[in-house]
Amino acid sequence: MYKIISGKEVSEAVKLRVSDEVKELKENGIEPCLAVILVGDDPASRVYVNNKKKACEFCGIRSLEYVLPAETKEEELIELVEKLNNDKSVNGILCQLPLPKHLDEKKVLNLIKPEKDVDAFHPENVGHIMIGDFNFLPCTPAGIMEMLRYENIDLDGKNCVVIGRSNIVGKPMAMLMLKENATVTICHSRTKNLKEVVAGADVIVAAVGRPNFVTADMVKDGAVIIDVGINRMDDGKLCGDVDFEACKEKASYITPVPGGVGPMTIATLMQNTITATRIQNGKE
Ligand code: NAD
Repeated sequence: MYKIISGKEVSEAVKLRVSDEVKELKENGIEPCLAVILVGDDPASRVYVNNKKKACEFCGIRSLEYVLPAETKEEELIELVEKLNNDKSVNGILCQLPLPKHLDEKKVLNLIKPEKDVDAFHPENVGHIMIGDFNFLPCTPAGIMEMLRYENIDLDGKNCVVIGRSNIVGKPMAMLMLKENATVTICHSRTKNLKEVVAGADVIVAAVGRPNFVTADMVKDGAVIIDVGINRMDDGKLCGDVDFEACKEKASYITPVPGGVGPMTIATLMQNTITATRIQNGKE
């Protein structure tokens, strides 16, 4: 018998906790503020930015939105990031990815002050994650850890398989699971015996970006399945990387798409904004 882990439910709990923290900060004259930069008119990015704005409103966080045209020059974007870095009333800065091709993503992300880097993409924050001593965690992996904690799923000694090795999801996910004493394997596009590796997993995290990539024959009975993938199908519907209908029958816990990891990513961003605000105001 499987249980669906509702990202909607867990993210509500996180956002309510954040709302309380915001109230407390405001009582002390501190108003948390998140600045979001969107360059271009990618429809998926637009949806993500709108959802972030809504979450800020829910939590009482002031949100600033900078929507720049796709043809924005790198110097202009850099100038904006520097302005926000120096603005004491701005606590968190997020640059929505992907950026248009003519802009150097790495250069822009590295420019965001580490203490305002609420996505935790800056090399300094990534380094902190490697040594297990961090202020912020990347939103998606941290959101997944929150879901696992919420369901009392203990990773100690478990075989965890992460499919995907991106800097945003796969690699930090593996680090966080390792910190919880799991034995972690990362699979990627060059992995030869992927099916066998995944079949040995107590916990599977799929972050590939391919619909129905994880099939029931790869899943061990009782496995925990976390589906990070967001794939838009021809009919406009969203679908994850896991064949949900078939895999759920073998799983102990499984996350749906939509309503799984996605809302957790945004809730963690809210939490990171509060952490940033506390650090910048000496209230850790
Ligand atoms: P990415 O494209 O950077 O990385 C995909 C990874 O999949 C790569 O490391 C690649 O090695 C691996 N891969 C590709 N083909 C493979 C194969 N045949 N076998 C094994 N591994 C293979 O993507 P990403 O940014 O990590 O995102 C992955 C998915 O998660 C996407 O669908 C994205 O939209 C989604 N995503 C969701 C959230 C959320 O909040 N739910 C957040 C970030 C990303």
